[in-house]
Amino acid sequence: MTYNNKIAIFEGAEKLKYIEETIEEIKSNQVLVKIDATAICTMEQRVYLGKMKPKMPFAGGHEVAGHVIQCGGKVSSVSNGDVVALRLLTNCGHCHYCRTGNDNQCKTAFIAKFHQTVGGPGGLAQYIVVEEKNVYKVNKDVDVNYLSLTEPLACCIHSINRCDINFGDDVVIIGAGIMGVFHTMLAKLKGARVIVTEVDEERLKVAKDNGADIVINSSKVDAVQYIKDLTDGRGADVVVNTVAISKVAEDAIKMAGKLGRIVFYSSFHPDNPIDFSPNSIHYSEAIVTGSVNPSNKDFLQATRLLSSNIINPESLISGHVPLDNLENGIAEALRPDTYRIIVDCNK
Ligand SMILES: [Zn+2]
Ligand SMILES: [Zn+2]
Repeated sequence: MTYNNKIAIFEGAEKLKYIEETIEEIKSNQVLVKIDATAICTMEQRVYLGKMKPKMPFAGGHEVAGHVIQCGGKVSSVSNGDVVALRLLTNCGHCHYCRTGNDNQCKTAFIAKFHQTVGGPGGLAQYIVVEEKNVYKVNKDVDVNYLSLTEPLACCIHSINRCDINFGDDVVIIGAGIMGVFHTMLAKLKGARVIVTEVDEERLKVAKDNGADIVINSSKVDAVQYIKDLTDGRGADVVVNTVAISKVAEDAIKMAGKLGRIVFYSSFHPDNPIDFSPNSIHYSEAIVTGSVNPSNKDFLQATRLLSSNIINPESLISGHVPLDNLENGIAEALRPDTYRIIVDCNK
């Protein structure tokens, strides 16, 4: 059978276009997926705005769920009709980092090409041909829109694993965007008291509804002092910064107590240096680290949490657009009062 595939591509800042390709046959190790839902991530927003400049033209869309419609002869882990989450930013399997069990740091993590004529993860399309390693079978009874959020949830699982959370730890999550809320849910699962700081009241409410123990509007109070007061002057055991503001990154270090773990989750564009006191790290033995990309294990764990409804991301989906209306979808995703906008790729 032949499939005509419509693919949305970026050609430069604020330049979107649709191309068509024909899919005729797949190889023995490949899987043809009809895409149901692709969430618009910050990465696609940055590419659209020209803040991130991958090689153009670029087929964006890496938060993807769909169902299998054809399998190559050697494929064994999925079959026709299965619902799958797609891991499109993946790893090579043979570099130093892959072989030392740190596959999220693979040199090829951001290089992807699944369509015939254009590079990029390519999830903003009706169909995609991937290898078996790119598909993870998920529970077909779960809303497929939720499953499109496997990749961002997996990113947060990776980050939470770097926090080394113990039962009863005081964990501060800075920012209550989608990443802040996922961190909140996951830190609760790890048995922490979760304190969320954010400047937007609506977002604080979403954090609270999703399990935050304490929410702080950091535009109204001195969040660093507030955290110290909450912790008998000790400071937090863990601080995760999901906000790309230099002053906030400085505060993240100040909020942590002795032996604290500070994770810089968000990337910075532009990446301006920040101030901190070397002695605050020396005497406290605090650990400052970052988190980027999920590993294969993190991705698998994200599919489990969503498949079993341990994590329910309903409140993080703000709207839908058809593939033909991607431009509007990006405009909505850019609004500060939205969480994820889902592109319905076959509606
Ligand atoms: Zn993403
Ligand atoms: Zn590698």
